[in-house]
Amino acid sequence: MTSLRDGYVDMPIRRLRQPGDRTFGDNLPSQVPLFDGALRLSVNAFAIDDGDEITLIDTGASNAWHPTMGYLPEALREAKIAINRVRTVAFTHTHLDHIHGLVLADGSDGFPQLSRLFVPRAEFGMFREVARLDRFHDRAQPFDPCQRLSAHIDTFATPGHEVGHTCFRLVSEGETLLIWGDIVHVPSLQFDHPEIAWEFDADQEQARASRLQILAMATGNACYVAGAHLDSPGVGRVSRTETAFRFEPL
Ligand SMILES: [Zn+2]
Repeated sequence: MTSLRDGYVDMPIRRLRQPGDRTFGDNLPSQVPLFDGALRLSVNAFAIDDGDEITLIDTGASNAWHPTMGYLPEALREAKIAINRVRTVAFTHTHLDHIHGLVLADGSDGFPQLSRLFVPRAEFGMFREVARLDRFHDRAQPFDPCQRLSAHIDTFATPGHEVGHTCFRLVSEGETLLIWGDIVHVPSLQFDHPEIAWEFDADQEQARASRLQILAMATGNACYVAGAHLDSPGVGRVSRTETAFRFEPL
């Protein structure tokens, strides 16, 4: 697997939500680094090479959001991944920093040989409403929770951040990798305090429950995680602390 950095996005502190949808004020724990007073979230996508073809999990934002994102083509070039080898793309969910990389800033296709596009079934309607991605409707196929996408990749539902939010699991030679999308937005805080949610969670309570479930699942010995908003490259292991969890980057 290769981690691809699409860029980053700076977000106001109020996006972080304590239980009860309460924002932080002056009481933001000092462990959270700020950049000009903002939270900085890396935006990552992940390419899985099974020897035959590349499957890309998420695609970054292209030019659909802040100009600090949209660097996926450069990341692919740097990783020496030919865009024509990317024939399958799967989305963890359909928020714009995950799907718009299908189309480059100049309007051309990001992956000219794309043949299959996996979209969580619960968000298939949301995906079809994105006019800019109209041209992919014929290649888009909804997938269900627990559906296997290939011999190496299976899926499980982790709703909350969005209704169809999905984690992808790869198992190889006794090791497991969870590509977990938006389970964590602010790694400096949410491993230590998994109860902290995000303003853009469609359902904060459910997102919290999914986060706790996946963090617990990830603490296994031979398990690695890859997160869309963990600091690039965003790959590492999760361990338990006395009260919560800790992330150990690779
Ligand atoms: Zn995201």
